[in-house]
Amino acid sequence: MARLVLKFGGTSVANIERIRNVAQRVKRVVEEGNQVAVVVSAMSGVTNQLVAWVNEVSKFYDEKEYDSVVATGEQVTSGLTALTLQELGVKARSWQGWQIPLRTDATYSKARIEGIDTTEMIAAMEKGVVAVVAGFQGISADNRITTLGRGGSDTSAVALAAALQADRCDIFTDVDGVYTCDPRIVTKARKLDQIAYEEMLEMASLGAKVLQTRSVELAMNHRVKVQVLTSFEDKPGTMVVDEEEIVEKQIVSGIAYSRDEAKVTLTKVSDRPGVAAAIFGPLADSAINVDMIVQNISDDGKTTDMTFTVGRTDLDRAVKLLNEKKSALGFSEIKPDSSVVKVSVIGVGMRSHAGVALTMFRTLSEKGINIEVISTSEIKISVLIDEQYLELALRALHTAYGLDAH
Ligand code: ADP
Ligand code: ASP
Ligand code: MG
Repeated sequence: MARLVLKFGGTSVANIERIRNVAQRVKRVVEEGNQVAVVVSAMSGVTNQLVAWVNEVSKFYDEKEYDSVVATGEQVTSGLTALTLQELGVKARSWQGWQIPLRTDATYSKARIEGIDTTEMIAAMEKGVVAVVAGFQGISADNRITTLGRGGSDTSAVALAAALQADRCDIFTDVDGVYTCDPRIVTKARKLDQIAYEEMLEMASLGAKVLQTRSVELAMNHRVKVQVLTSFEDKPGTMVVDEEEIVEKQIVSGIAYSRDEAKVTLTKVSDRPGVAAAIFGPLADSAINVDMIVQNISDDGKTTDMTFTVGRTDLDRAVKLLNEKKSALGFSEIKPDSSVVKVSVIGVGMRSHAGVALTMFRTLSEKGINIEVISTSEIKISVLIDEQYLELALRALHTAYGLDAH
């Protein structure tokens, strides 16, 4: 007997027929003698609709109210899934975040989990009741509903698996595993049988939406066994494992992209100590994350052009903030550009192999794609390019690194 957490994403619970399919699968796992907790997302499209309604009502909305609106999608699917299981003769009940309780901090709309009280849930599971948990939501110390950021049901599932000391956390989605690149764009992408925690963490944080970044962090820290697989077929998916367990090591194991990027260039910033701090300090104070940065000395040698990237949704706020400080910062012009994407190649093998970056630069240049900004770390290289070349760049790089399926 094992204790398992099964998480079903939006497409897996998109309508009643699919919820029945989910319930059948859960029933089989229960009949094999396992204790089961199920985590569900909202039906696909529902969260987007809820977010759109919030934006329609209020431009600079109160995030506590945003959370109370967008958390409702998961309430519906948790109840429907519990009911469907009951119809199949499986004992089940739903749990909302506040009922567990799943406690979070008070960063509404992107809260972090602080603790999960599993007492009641374990008691129920030991009696053969399936615990159906509404993903994505929790409760703050102020007794308000919180949500964990888009894609947050993955994090609910992994955190629950850690708290329940589950034997495995299965993430059911609309692809049958983690691929070398998004299979919706690169048709030659290959499914990986295994991926190292660290690589998965980079893939997720660099844009691969298959797992929420925070869920991978939690899995890595608590050594939760995570599998990504499809709910539409019965076959093994991708296991996220320790680096040492990987049988076939690749130099580059995957390519990720993010459309959530925007570039800001400040021209003719005076070249003196303290300027970077003066620019990036106020952005940090307003919780605007700056990712890639480049600085160029201009022709006169006295000023520099500073280019950096922020999340696309933060662009307007960043520009407004910098414009307010224009006289203090002393730049000439501010040039925002949201038609950029970030493309990253990832692999733990880069630690011990040279020339990986060169392959990337050469491949992009052969396709006539200009690199606007570069950033690297031990196991990844990221470049910023014009968004119109995204698909071309992904496919060319995928081939260049020998990742294409044969
Ligand atoms: P869910 O609703 O089940 O949480 P998501 O849409 O959040 O599903 O995540 C699954 C999607 O992630 C896939 O449909 C796929 O387009 C995308 N994706 C991006 N990169 C990858 C990758 N490297 N491997 C697999 N899927 C990926
Ligand atoms: N329903 C939420 C979203 O669409 C959470 C999730 O699906 O993981 O972001
Ligand atoms: Mg998701």
